[in-house]
Amino acid sequence: MTAQVIDGKAIAARLRERLADEIREFTAETGTVPGLATVLVGNDPASEVYVGSKRKQAAAVGIADHHVHLDGDASDDEIAGTIRRLADDPSVSGILLQLPLPGGRDAAPLIDLIPAAKDVDGLTTLSAGLLARGKPGLRPCTPSGVIELLDASGIEIDGARAVVIGRSELVGAPLAQLLIQRNATVSVAHSHTTDLPGLTRTADILVAAAGRPGLVTADHVRPGAAVIDVGIHRTADGLQGDVDYAGVAEVAGWITPVPGGVGPMTIAMLLRNTLLAARLQRGEST
Ligand code: NAD
Repeated sequence: MTAQVIDGKAIAARLRERLADEIREFTAETGTVPGLATVLVGNDPASEVYVGSKRKQAAAVGIADHHVHLDGDASDDEIAGTIRRLADDPSVSGILLQLPLPGGRDAAPLIDLIPAAKDVDGLTTLSAGLLARGKPGLRPCTPSGVIELLDASGIEIDGARAVVIGRSELVGAPLAQLLIQRNATVSVAHSHTTDLPGLTRTADILVAAAGRPGLVTADHVRPGAAVIDVGIHRTADGLQGDVDYAGVAEVAGWITPVPGGVGPMTIAMLLRNTLLAARLQRGEST
C-alpha cells in the first residue's frame, strides 16, 4: 500500500485564504482590525525566523502587527511589564511570547500574565484548564493544526483508536484532550511506555510528537492507519520528522510529510486564534 500524502502546505494555504475573507468581513462589520503582538526576547536565529514567518503571514491575512523585540538581557520584570501593557492595549487582540526565552529561564510565570482571551498560543494555565474541562477557549496551535489536517483529509476521528506519542504541555497532552473531545479512544505513549510498537499498531490515527528522529517505523504502524508527524529536526539533509517517511508510507493509509505537513498548520492556527481572540474581546463566544 502507498499512503495518501496529507498536504499541510495546501490545506494551510486554503485556510489562510478563508481567514483573510473572514478578517475582511469582521473589520468591515466592527471597524476593528485584529492585532497580534509577538514578543521576542534576544536574538536566537531560529526564533527570529519563526517570529518573522508569523508576522509576515499575519500581515498577509489582514492582521495588524504589534511586534516587540526586547534585548536578550531584559529582566523578567521588563518582560512582565511588556506583557501587562499589551494585555491592557485594546488594539492588541492576541499576545504571543516566543519560546524558548534566552538563558533557559522559566517562561511559565510570564506566559500566565497573558489574559486567557488574548492567549493565542493557548499555553496559559487558564487556557489549559478550559481545554481540560472542555470549556470554550483558545486552543494550542500545533494540536489544533493536527485536528484540522485530519478533518480536511476526511479522516474519521469519532470512534477511532488514536495513539499520541508524547505528553508535552505544548503538543501531546492537549492533542490527546482534543481527540477525546472528538470522541476518539486515546492512548498516550511517553518515554516510559513499554512495547511502543505493540501499542502504536492498535492505532487508526497515530501522532508522533516525541522529538526523536525516525522513531516511528513501518513496524509501528497498522496497515491503513493515518500517521501524523509532528516532529521537526534540522539535519544535514534538511528537515526530518519523528517518522521514517519512506518505510511508513508503504504501510499507512495517510501520512504527513516533513516539511509541509503539520508545520504550516501551526501558524495558520495562530492566525485563526488571533481572529477568535478579537471576537472574544468584543464579547462574542468562540
Ligand atoms: P518535548 O520534548 O517537550 O516532549 C516529547 C515527549 O515525547 C515527552 O512527553 C516524552 O515522554 C516523549 N518521548 C520522548 N521519547 C520517546 C520515546 N522514545 N517513546 C515514546 N515517547 C517518547 O517535545 P515537544 O515540545 O512536545 O515537541 C515534540 C516534537 O515536535 C519536537 O520534534 C518539536 O520540534 C516538534 N514540534 C513541532 C511543531 C510544529 O509546528 N510542527 C510544534 C511544536 C513542536
